[in-house]
Amino acid sequence: MVNTTIKTTKSQEIFAAAQNLMPGGVSSPVRAFKSVGGQPIVFDHVKGAYIWDVDGNQYIDYVGTWGPAICGHAHPDVIGALHAALDKGTSFGAPCVLENVLAEMVIDAVPSIEMVRFVNSGTEACMAVLRLMRAFTGRDKVIKFEGCYHGHADMFLVKAGSGVATLGLPDSPGVPKSTTANTLNAPYNDLEAVKALFEQNKDEIAGVILEPVVGNAGFITPDAGFLEGLRELTTEHGALLVFDEVMTGFRIAYGGAQEKFGVTPDLTTLGKVIGGGLPVGAYGGRRDIMSMVAPAGPMYQAGTLSGNPLAMTAGIKTLELLQKPGTYEYLDKITKKLASGLLQIAKETGHEACGGQISGMFGMFFTSGPVHSYEDAKKSDTAKFGRFHRGMLEQGIYLAPSQFEAGFTSISHTDEDIERTLAAAREVMSSL
Ligand SMILES: *Cc1c(COP(=O)(O)O)cnc(C)c1O
Repeated sequence: MVNTTIKTTKSQEIFAAAQNLMPGGVSSPVRAFKSVGGQPIVFDHVKGAYIWDVDGNQYIDYVGTWGPAICGHAHPDVIGALHAALDKGTSFGAPCVLENVLAEMVIDAVPSIEMVRFVNSGTEACMAVLRLMRAFTGRDKVIKFEGCYHGHADMFLVKAGSGVATLGLPDSPGVPKSTTANTLNAPYNDLEAVKALFEQNKDEIAGVILEPVVGNAGFITPDAGFLEGLRELTTEHGALLVFDEVMTGFRIAYGGAQEKFGVTPDLTTLGKVIGGGLPVGAYGGRRDIMSMVAPAGPMYQAGTLSGNPLAMTAGIKTLELLQKPGTYEYLDKITKKLASGLLQIAKETGHEACGGQISGMFGMFFTSGPVHSYEDAKKSDTAKFGRFHRGMLEQGIYLAPSQFEAGFTSISHTDEDIERTLAAAREVMSSL
């Protein structure tokens, strides 16, 4: 363990108090740093590629509030637009023209989306899309993949792992067996397993949902032919293909993974980037399917704050900024430098590691790899990752506090930021 070189007294005090007030001291579990050890730092403010904690320490940030901050934190254009929107009120609970603007942008950008419904989080989007898959097909079973995350709704909380997985045993207390009985699991990148599930459950499977590039089991890319194979299998069996692009949407390409890989699903979920840092989720897809959603159709789904003018404004401004020519090329360039630099340094300092990046999304596992699935990812040396994470934090680099989370860059990250990060990584990895 690298010695503590930064002062975090205030963070420690605040977090200690928080633990009495909120379960684990946080509003969302991974923030508590449980899997890397040590204590989380408490943020004071964020700007561009940087964060400042309550003790005044500055860090280069590779979490970007878990993806949304693709333009950098608190971008002046987004903040400016929000100030203007704020004066007109925060929530209407009635139609507002900003919804049309963002809907048009989403429909123009994402190949599969002909109509869209806004919600308030990725979790909500995934819950709703699952209901829609079932409503449209009249079938109950769905296939998901081990290690993919689709929010915290009951039906998706099924333990990854062979026997238990196929039995559909829930991952968390409080999730009734009956809720997950129709959730089937397959290993990521395993088309044969999906094929077998379709054979065993003939005419019962509503669809397949997946992260087209995985970010929630660490960074894992689809093997050549995997997405295409799923497209063919679902079509052949009258089932729907759903890309959960809550993380990859507007992140690995403007049109998401479906643009990048040229495979068009029937339905798509979005979140994170389309909210530009405010709570937004969305689901959309083929017009005939989306026409089932209330009040156009019978599938009920609603939301008091859905499509509120502040959230729509942040989303619109963020997407406008992303439309500037060269955005994704820039993200790709700096992130490639970061990801390949990390692997090179690991090699030179004697650590087994593998990883990669697409555009502004990256990851590195402390295992020789290659990693095609969650099973492969679990071979990583997570204790070593914990020490690496701690060391980087003390060097002023804020990485996602888990081996099983992807990292994110933004258009605010400079070449110099990447070089500083790599210099820190060299120092930390030399001492692991
Ligand atoms: C973050 C995420 C979700 C959940 O979104 P929330 O806004 O946290 O509810 C769902 N799917 C994927 C792929 C995600 O990365």
